[in-house]
Amino acid sequence: MTQTRRSFLTSVAAAGTITVLPFKGRAAGHASNMFESDAGTFTVHPVSHASVVIETPAGVMYIDPVGEVSQYSDLPAADMILITHEHGDHYNADTLDALKGEDTVMLTNPAVFDMLPEGMKTNTTSLANGESTEVAGVEISAIPAYNTTEGRTDFHPEGRDNGYVLDFDGFRIYVSGDTEDIPEMRALEDIDLAFVCMNLPFTMSADAAASAVSEFAPTYVYPYHYRGRDNGTQDPAEFAEMVEGDVEVKMGEWYS
Ligand code: ZN
Ligand code: ZN
Repeated sequence: MTQTRRSFLTSVAAAGTITVLPFKGRAAGHASNMFESDAGTFTVHPVSHASVVIETPAGVMYIDPVGEVSQYSDLPAADMILITHEHGDHYNADTLDALKGEDTVMLTNPAVFDMLPEGMKTNTTSLANGESTEVAGVEISAIPAYNTTEGRTDFHPEGRDNGYVLDFDGFRIYVSGDTEDIPEMRALEDIDLAFVCMNLPFTMSADAAASAVSEFAPTYVYPYHYRGRDNGTQDPAEFAEMVEGDVEVKMGEWYS
């Protein structure tokens, strides 16, 4: 555990505050959570499946926003949009076109960058696995996301798609994208808040996700991306029971 992590946890304990507060500013069905930290307040708005909006001290981050634009109409506009990969539940050019303002910065993996409509490449950076960049004081690293099981490696071939770690002055958020239980995820350190996928056959089982999460031990984890063509065979409640150690599992209303 690094100094950064320790100071975050210690100061929260010393202040005697509740670290996670239900956020009542939005309509039911989009319950949100606020996370207080030394780096400021982070408000998580689960939108749907793999789409999440996070209000941060450095601006409003949209992650894999797809679907009806009306789903985002109650939310503050995007300062930054991150796209993990090209699949339709993560990338939709029409949705992006509606949500990306003139000053919105966008980050994608190289494959999505290549398929973006020309006009949308403005203010967009392509980040490959292992690369990092800084936007508005936030250090953003592209973490690999891929399948490892024989017969599934074409879904998310190694080297193509991204997960992300966002470091806000020591408060670190991990978004898995679509991946199996890979060593690069298990090796993550000092994650305060994680979003981890689980569905079959495209990503991983709840069992594998719980094992990996227990190893990298984020302070909080949201299971997300847990329905798909399997119609939800991987149960986030079972995931929560299987996670070991000092990890708090948060449930979002991803499907309503
Ligand atoms: Zn995918
Ligand atoms: Zn997906």
